[in-house]
Amino acid sequence: MTRQTLSGWGRTNPSLATVMNPANETDVAELLASTRGVIARGLGRSYGDPAQVSGGVVVDNRALGGISEISHDGVVSVGAGVSIDELLAMSIPQGWFVPVTPGTRQVTMGGAFAADVHGKNHHVDGSFAAHVRSLRIVTPTGTYDVSPERDADLFWASAGGMGLTGIITSLTLQMMPIETDQVLVDTERFANLEGVMQEMLSRDKDYRYSVAWVDCMTKGAHMGRAILTRGRHARASDLDEPTLKAPASPKLFIPFDAPSGLLNVASVRVFNEVWFRSAPKRQEREPQSLSSFFHPLDGVRDWNRLYGRRGFVQYQFCVDDAHANTVVEAISRLSSSGVASFLAVLKRFGAANPGPLSFPVPGWTLALDLPVGPRALPRVLDDLDSMVLEAGGRIYFAKDARLGPEKVRAMYPRLDEFLAVKHRVDPEGRLTSDLARRLNLEGS
Ligand SMILES: Cc1cc2nc3c(=O)[nH]c(=O)nc-3n(C[C@H](O)[C@H](O)[C@H](O)COP(=O)(O)OP(=O)(O)OC[C@H]3O[C@@H](n4cnc5c(N)ncnc54)[C@H](O)[C@@H]3O)c2cc1C
Repeated sequence: MTRQTLSGWGRTNPSLATVMNPANETDVAELLASTRGVIARGLGRSYGDPAQVSGGVVVDNRALGGISEISHDGVVSVGAGVSIDELLAMSIPQGWFVPVTPGTRQVTMGGAFAADVHGKNHHVDGSFAAHVRSLRIVTPTGTYDVSPERDADLFWASAGGMGLTGIITSLTLQMMPIETDQVLVDTERFANLEGVMQEMLSRDKDYRYSVAWVDCMTKGAHMGRAILTRGRHARASDLDEPTLKAPASPKLFIPFDAPSGLLNVASVRVFNEVWFRSAPKRQEREPQSLSSFFHPLDGVRDWNRLYGRRGFVQYQFCVDDAHANTVVEAISRLSSSGVASFLAVLKRFGAANPGPLSFPVPGWTLALDLPVGPRALPRVLDDLDSMVLEAGGRIYFAKDARLGPEKVRAMYPRLDEFLAVKHRVDPEGRLTSDLARRLNLEGS
């Protein structure tokens, strides 16, 4: 096991965390037995503070590696520190794809399970945990093999539990068969939000994958104009020369931080106009590689530098179908706010799973990237919180950096169920994170 100290914070800063790299389960168990204030970390692709703990110990999961052979029916055992990228490099050439992927493949198995990540297929396939058959988890009270059949409470509390129930060391995943490395994509432009939401409501069920890019800068009759892309995996018979190639490494990169303020209302308006106009009005069955359909941002290393040193806030909420109007109100609030929204993504969610802290509920989800800078931003975010709360919706922990505990209790009404499981496996509260402290997810 190696130890290092998170750099860049100054030696005497009490908020320094120590980073440990345990290579096996015994090391993880010893660490949890001897330390308070511990949290696991994967590739750090969460946008807020769930994978850090000021003054505590961050367990880097990347040394928890290993990928088994993929069985004839697509079952694979994977170390918690293996990334989706690494798994796909091995699995695509054998005709298997991950059943759920977020918008980047640079996330680990541990991080994907702990956040219970969703993809463009939630309305059909649910979230990541639905495809995990079992996992091995080290907690302060012991090491367990859990599954929906064996200790379902611990399994589901850990799905979306943001690492607070224990440190996952490996999991067994049911992969999805594919015949090619291409997706057949239908693209359609919509002049306003109402049009795209109606279309998604009525026809998303005919597609495995669906996502809409929404322009949050337009007002009036064109408010929320959108580009809807929907697809399914191409079969071998759909293509002249079917291939099964692993994703390529990024060729482009952003070499330095862009000046802060580059992404402002005016520049984002121009970008959105060009983006909208460059999409086809309607196009069917366009073959796209798995990488460009699922992980476009992975094609540009350090893309986040485009936001400059001040960075950006991610904000993602979901509401049920009865409160679809909250999506309309949120986009209307943004379009009149003077706050630029760069990448706004609208998706449908299908059935929720039993996880008490798992984010998706059936209905709509909207994810926003908001460059930091405008004075109105904090007010706008507070207004969005109020709208989401009023609609009985919730915000995604993996993308949050600013909520408070009262709002979380209202958004996640099954929080006490989660805390009861956490208390069972971690009675002394050894597992915690800056997110857990901020949102009072520690149970004390
Ligand atoms: C460009 C981009 C696009 C994204 N798109 C989506 C999307 O479409 N859908 C979506 O759902 N999310 C999306 N995300 C968020 C991302 O998928 C999640 O935040 C994911 O949890 C990150 O995984 P990670 O390995 O980087 O984990 P980290 O960010 O390092 O950690 C996330 C959480 O997992 C816990 N954790 C990590 N490893 C373990 C372990 N071994 N045992 C227990 N807990 C552990 C940590 O404690 C922490 O609470 C996106 C992020 C980016 C940067």
